Amino acid sequence: MRADDGPEGRSPKNNFICHMGHGFSAAELDQAQMQQVDRTLETAARMINERALLCQVMQGVAHDHGDADFAFRLGQARREMELKAEAVRKIMEQGWTALGLRPAP
Ligand SMILES: [Zn+2]
Repeated sequence: MRADDGPEGRSPKNNFICHMGHGFSAAELDQAQMQQVDRTLETAARMINERALLCQVMQGVAHDHGDADFAFRLGQARREMELKAEAVRKIMEQGWTALGLRPAP
C-alpha cells in the first residue's frame, strides 16, 4: 500500500494504491482497517477461550486420574489463557479514535 501523490492520485476517491493497483480512499481504508482489527481480536479472544476450556477439561481428567503434576500444569496454562483473554478484552474495549473521514462522493 502506498500513497499516490501523482496528479490522478489527488482525486479524493483513490488516494491509496495497493500492490495490485487498486485505489482506495482514506475513509475506505479507515473503515476496513478498523473492521479487520476488530475481527482479528474477536478471533483471538475466541481461540484463547477455547484453549482455556480445553485446559480446564483436561485438568479435570488429569485430576481424576491422579496425575497431580499434569493437573497443576494445566491449571497454570488455563490461568495464563484467562490473563490473555482479559488483556484482549481490554484492548477491544478501548475502541477507536474517530478520524472523521467522509467517504469520497
Ligand atoms: Zn488491491
